[in-house]
Formats: sequence, C-alpha cells, structure tokens
Amino acid sequence: MLDSPLLPRLATSAASAYIGGSWFAVPGPRDLHVTNPADGRLLAELPMLGADEAERAIEAAAASAEQPSEDDRRAWLEGIAAGLTENRRELGRIISLENGKPWKEAEAEVDYAASFFRYAASHLERLRSHQLRERPRGHGWVVHYRPVGVAALIVPWNFPLAMTAKKLSAALAAGAPSVLKPATLTPLSSIALLEIIDSLGLPGGMVNLIVGDSRSIGRVFCEHPAVRSISFTGSTEVGRLLLRQAAPHIKRLTLELGGNAPFIVCGDADLDSAVEHLIQNKFRCAGQTCVCANRVYVDSAVASAFTDRLVRRVAKLNVGDGLQPETDLGPLINRAGFEKVRGHVEDALQRGARCEAGELPPEPTEEWGLFFPPTVLSGVPHDARCVAEETFGPLIPLIEFGSESQVLEWANGTEFGLAAYLFTADAERARRMIGRLHFGHAGYNSGTGPTAEAPFGGWKASGFGREGGREGLMEFVEPQTVPSST
Ligand code: NAD
Repeated sequence: MLDSPLLPRLATSAASAYIGGSWFAVPGPRDLHVTNPADGRLLAELPMLGADEAERAIEAAAASAEQPSEDDRRAWLEGIAAGLTENRRELGRIISLENGKPWKEAEAEVDYAASFFRYAASHLERLRSHQLRERPRGHGWVVHYRPVGVAALIVPWNFPLAMTAKKLSAALAAGAPSVLKPATLTPLSSIALLEIIDSLGLPGGMVNLIVGDSRSIGRVFCEHPAVRSISFTGSTEVGRLLLRQAAPHIKRLTLELGGNAPFIVCGDADLDSAVEHLIQNKFRCAGQTCVCANRVYVDSAVASAFTDRLVRRVAKLNVGDGLQPETDLGPLINRAGFEKVRGHVEDALQRGARCEAGELPPEPTEEWGLFFPPTVLSGVPHDARCVAEETFGPLIPLIEFGSESQVLEWANGTEFGLAAYLFTADAERARRMIGRLHFGHAGYNSGTGPTAEAPFGGWKASGFGREGGREGLMEFVEPQTVPSST
C-alpha cells in the first residue's frame, strides 16, 4: 500500500469521496484497486462509489452556490497553486506511481497544474462585470459573468493532476462549485489535491470529489438538473456518449477529446531541431498524450537523413520504472493500451513498413510491467492503422511526402483536429500551410503542447470549448446582460 503524508486516509474507507467540505466514509467493500503499472504493486483499495454518492456530491455543490467574491476566489487559487508547489516532489511521486510516467516528468506535471491556478488567479479581472461604452436604445447596458451552476469535471489518467487543474482552476475562477471525477486508474493524485484544498478552508461544497464507477456517475452528471456544465477530457467515444446523454437536458459541455496529430517535416527544415522536438513531444507519458505526434510526414528529399538522426536519438532513451532517475519512458497504462500499440506495429509491418528502431514485443502475459520499446517504422503506407487511428503509445510511423498539397490533404484527412506540427525554414510557406491545417493547436518549428496562458482545444471530433487563456476562463460563466433605462 502506498504510504504518503498527502494521503492520510488511504487506510480508511474515507478517501473516495470529499463531499460538502468533509471526507465521507463509505461502508462496504473496497473493490477499486489502484496499482502501479510498472510492477503491479497494490497502491490503494478504495470503495467504488456510484450514482447515490454522485447525487449527494452534486447536492452539496448546489448548496454552496453563493457567488464568492473576487478576493476569495483569488485567495483559493493562489493557495492551491502554493500547495501544489510546496508538495511538488511528493505529488510527483504519487503521479509516477499510479500512472507509470517518469518522476521528473510527473514533477513537471505538478508545475504545469500549478500554472493554471496561478494564471486564473492573476486574470480574474476578465470576469468582472462591465458597462458597455455604447447606449443602445437609450439604455445603459451592464454585462455580468455569473457562475454557471454546478460543474461536473471528468478527467483521464494520462495527466491526472494537470487535467484536473485545467478544469478546476477555471471553475473556481468563475465561482462555480464543482464535482470532480478522476479516472479509476489514477484517483490518488486527485485525492491528494483535495487534501491540499481541504487545508485551505474553502466553503464546504465548493469542491467535491467522487471516485467510482464511470458509467453511473457520468449518467448522473448528465441527468441531474443542478449540473449545468460538464467538462470532460478523454476519448471521443465517451465524449459522444456524454453528448447524447446530456442532449435532452441541454447542458453546457466542454469536450477535450482524442487527437491524431500530424508532424510535418519539410525539406528545408532544421532536421536536428525537428528530431529533438519530436522526441520531447512524442515520448512524454510514453506516447500516451492527446497532443503526441501520431503520424510523421517527412519530405522524401530528406527522409533518410531525418530517419538516421531520429534512430540515433531514440537509441539513447531509457525505458523503465518511473521512479528510477534514468527513466525516460515508463510502462503503458494497461493491457488494452499495450495491445493497441502492438497491433498498430504489427499491422504496419504486415503492410510493408520497415522497423528502424524498437521491435515487436511479445503479447503480454501480465496486466502490469507493460514496457513498450520506443519504435520507429519507415515506409508506412497511408492505409496503415497507425496513420488512421490514435496509437497512444511510443510508436513513430514515418511517411514520405512529395508535395505541399499532398501532405496537407493527408494531414487534414482525419476526423480529429486537436494538434499539428510543422517544421520548415520558410516563413511564407509556414503561414500558408498553417492557415490550411484544420487543428486547434498548430506548432511552428515547435513540438510544444498547451500552456496555461493560451487557449487550447480541438476542432471537429476532437471536441469543443477551450482550456487555458482568457477563452478557458469563460467556460464556467454565464453572461447576464442587464439593460437599464435609468
Ligand atoms: P476515457 O474516455 O476512457 O476516460 C476518460 C475519463 O472518462 C475517465 O475519468 C473515465 O473514468 C471516464 N469515463 C469513462 N467512461 C465514462 C462514461 N460512460 N461516463 C462518464 N465518464 C466516463 O479516455 P482515457 O482512455 O482515460 O484517455 C485517453 C483519451 O483521452 C485519448 O483519446 C486522448 O486523446 C484523450 N485525451 C484528450 C485530451 C485533450 O485535451 N483533448 C487530453 C488527454 C487525453
């Protein structure tokens, strides 16, 4: 069992629910087992909660729906950011243990999470009421930004703390009470976050946590009238389900869904820089991120030079237990994830691709220790599964292209529109091509992902709504317009 000063309640049955400002002991079996994906070690046994507890949490949130002052909201946001930073090392350890990612990467996730609370704290003036300069119809017009109501926050396992921070910082900035549902694979960092929040003395019900069965809790979120906004990060499949379930109840949704990011290397690009950006972009969380390059298109004139450089760089990567300091890639999260990546490699090889780095690992025999070698395949045909689907693992498929129009057609030929990357030394070509890429995030000579200061979100089947930046701060407010004849 995981022993952590940030998780004092793991030995009791009161860690699965934080409702109305208190930890909530739930009798019954503790049948949710959280394990370390590196070695299968049991980290925690928690009660698996469901619809009843979800309703209770929503009602506690609804009861706290007073509009908090800007000073209070700023103090909460700053307090959480400071609490995260103070506990950076231990939170990083918890994330690494439950998710498998390298500890140093997990610490960077804590910094990233804290940056969202800091950004929101320092931009609350954007949510102030304001008077229009114009006086249409001879009236004075004031616009207020009211909290939306109860916000339901559903987060995935790949950035368990950062994805929570993106949503919770915006909800608190708006003054909207929330109910957080972490992924059952990685609930411990959210529980630790709630321990930090508990010490800050927020009004009871402002932030609630419920760990449990996704389907039943998700359904309650969609159907309960007090929930006015659902913010979800996860697969497109579950996003579609939530849309369907919420439709009869007309709820606000923010959907951060799957990606299938193209990474385009033009013939005039700085190849060393493109390789380094690809390594940093692709192997974070062992390739299990929504903004990871999923298909790498290289101008055929530089394909062999690029491949050589990439293969040499990949050979330096260490795969292993996330707590070991030399580890660059940890294990994949579970067997289904491993089998998907393995299936993509096998399929591409069968279609004639060549293996430049890595190898096809044997089929797994255990549920843990699923270390997948960083793999580079060249000559990948366009109809391979790893080109059409999001692999979510450490596979780089290289596809050669001959012209700008061809690569743009291929890059956009997906239902997804989350992230894309373009490497070229020609600024005019970059301007032209980025203008034609149908993605919400388009890196130019950069593989960087989102940041707290800029809006991030998808187009098409990658979802809608934004996190980060001033657009992200508007996700949990309802504008109220007040015309006045006086
Ligand atoms: P997932 O959809 O299976 O799960 C995400 C969350 O939804 C988890 O908390 C899960 O417990 C919950 N969930 C599952 N079924 C549910 C249901 N019926 N009702 C309510 N909640 C339910 O996704 P995942 O496997 O955890 O994450 C991987 C996916 O997330 C990938 O497709 C990835 O691209 C996407 N993702 C997107 C972003 C983004 O910002 N766009 C960021 C990270 C991950």
